Amino acid sequence: MWLEYRELDELEDEVFDFGEEAKGTLIFSSTSTTAKCPECNDLLKKFKYRLYDLEMAFCPNQHGYWLEDDEDTRVLELMKKEEAGVQRSLHAEDQWAATLRRMRSGSFLSKVRDLFH
Ligand SMILES: [Zn+2]
Repeated sequence: MWLEYRELDELEDEVFDFGEEAKGTLIFSSTSTTAKCPECNDLLKKFKYRLYDLEMAFCPNQHGYWLEDDEDTRVLELMKKEEAGVQRSLHAEDQWAATLRRMRSGSFLSKVRDLFH
């Protein structure tokens, strides 16, 4: 699943409040991949999401992030762990699901629009 740069940002804001300081340190180090960005065709780089054992690829030109199958579920699990740590009462799973639904339907609609232009 492809997430635009701002979508992951929004998702994190909505599901969990990492705070701007923590968000600034999302990518500490990265390695090259052979996958290409769907927007600019540059090679994606991969990094460990929030230093957990979860790899995500990203476009070096900040177009977005690529999540492999099931990785979105793992991101959610990590977010829930963080959430438990600070005793927040947000229902992360519901928030994540609702946000993804909105994003997916949005990108689906724009793909449909592209088809007819
Ligand atoms: Zn790109």
